[in-house]
Amino acid sequence: MTENKDGWDEEILRDLFNARDQQCIKKVELGELDMEDGVYWSQELHGNYSVRSAYRLLQRQRGYWVESDNNSVWRKVWRINASAKILNLVWRSLSFCLPRMSILGQKKVVVDTRCPVCKIESETVEHVFLRCTVAIQCWGLILSGMQYTCQNLHQWWEQALDMSDGGKKAEIATVCWSIWKARNDVVWNKKYTQVYVVIARAKQFLDQWRNAQKSAVCTSYPQLLEGDGSCVWVKPQESMIKVSVDASTFQEFNASGIGIVARNASGGMMVARTVCISELKTDSRNNRSYGDKRSTQLDQGSEMAKGYNRIG
Ligand SMILES: [Zn+2]
Repeated sequence: MTENKDGWDEEILRDLFNARDQQCIKKVELGELDMEDGVYWSQELHGNYSVRSAYRLLQRQRGYWVESDNNSVWRKVWRINASAKILNLVWRSLSFCLPRMSILGQKKVVVDTRCPVCKIESETVEHVFLRCTVAIQCWGLILSGMQYTCQNLHQWWEQALDMSDGGKKAEIATVCWSIWKARNDVVWNKKYTQVYVVIARAKQFLDQWRNAQKSAVCTSYPQLLEGDGSCVWVKPQESMIKVSVDASTFQEFNASGIGIVARNASGGMMVARTVCISELKTDSRNNRSYGDKRSTQLDQGSEMAKGYNRIG
């Protein structure tokens, strides 16, 4: 631009760009506002980067994103009342990011790309969940009486969810997870699972998960509040700080690791800390790991030191 920013600097354009590029640049109208240039992410109206928009862009580039299909099917999938593990599997299948034989074939790996379960056709996501013999038999039992026509997995999900109530939707998603588990058992353990076991396993998992959602915190510790022990993080009461702590031990390294996150009543993160303890000791009196015990001391000690005295 010229020094007083009222137009393009013709001399600089001539020095730096060829005739075609000069024409293109001159077509860009300069704003009247005297603003500094900044980084702008074109996939969001506000210009700020978001993982969601980047994901959408990548899926579009790979040809896996059809605006009309995707918006509605994703909304329906994320409303299914099932465990996060199940929804993750559904998401991976609909995003075509499950590891399957056809992908190895595309990457020129010398491997039999046929479905390891039925050996009938190439193992694609559609084959695993719609056309494999196990899948056909499962849906014959689970979705009996339902008439659906579909070209691909997205359409199938959309139709199956439209024709089902809440409980059935969760069942369909969990059976998908069980079908994938049965397929993995063939690949990794050479173990074939019968169809009724695939369905029974799905129903058992779903029942257990539903029961776990209903159960209240069962403990004799008197200071537990509503939401403590929940699978989903719940905000602490006003003026309280909630400290989430987790510890794990690594026997092979004789070490333990601790993660601590403290959040306030509005959910904002106040402190986060990870600690690695290389010498693992066990308190034989109460059989509680040193890492576990140390984590409690660390989180209470560090918060108290800051003058907080109400820690949930
Ligand atoms: Zn198959």
